[in-house]
Amino acid sequence: MKKDIKKSFIIQIGGLWSGPGGKVESQHFEADLEFDPQEIEVASAVKGEMLLAKVKHEIRAALTNVEVTIKRGCVRCLKSFKQKVKIPVAERSFLDRAPKDKTDLDDIFLINLKDLSIDLYDMIRQEIILHFPLISVCSKSCKGLCPHCGADRNRKTCKCKEVDEGAQKPFKNLKKLIK
Ligand SMILES: [Zn+2]
Ligand SMILES: [Zn+2]
Repeated sequence: MKKDIKKSFIIQIGGLWSGPGGKVESQHFEADLEFDPQEIEVASAVKGEMLLAKVKHEIRAALTNVEVTIKRGCVRCLKSFKQKVKIPVAERSFLDRAPKDKTDLDDIFLINLKDLSIDLYDMIRQEIILHFPLISVCSKSCKGLCPHCGADRNRKTCKCKEVDEGAQKPFKNLKKLIK
């Protein structure tokens, strides 16, 4: 089957919506989603488990054990590397109409009542960003770039090393200051 990349992740909820309240549907999902590369550069499909429950005037969506591999730039050496993002559990409500007392529409998800579907794209986008690993380094031992000549210290040793150590020595100007 041909996989196509898309900026939506539409789930049909017709059967669930016409059923009784409290009805739950679960399924495994694997979706090739495309995001704004400035924000999230994906290197794999987004995989996980999806649980949908019908509640009065809404569909409650829960995603569990979600995993996706992303590409990021190392903050030390600036090289692109792959990192796994894990979302243990995430929940959102998809309402059948926008509540009157809410003004922040970004946080509100609505059911598309025309074709009885919900779009999980924004929910997944928000959750990936929330679960980005805090430290963006290609490896713990990455030596980074030399701040003087820009050489990748993982690949070669430049001659700026001693200058660096001097620059980091505390109180090196103290004698001058207290004269
Ligand atoms: Zn690095
Ligand atoms: Zn250097």
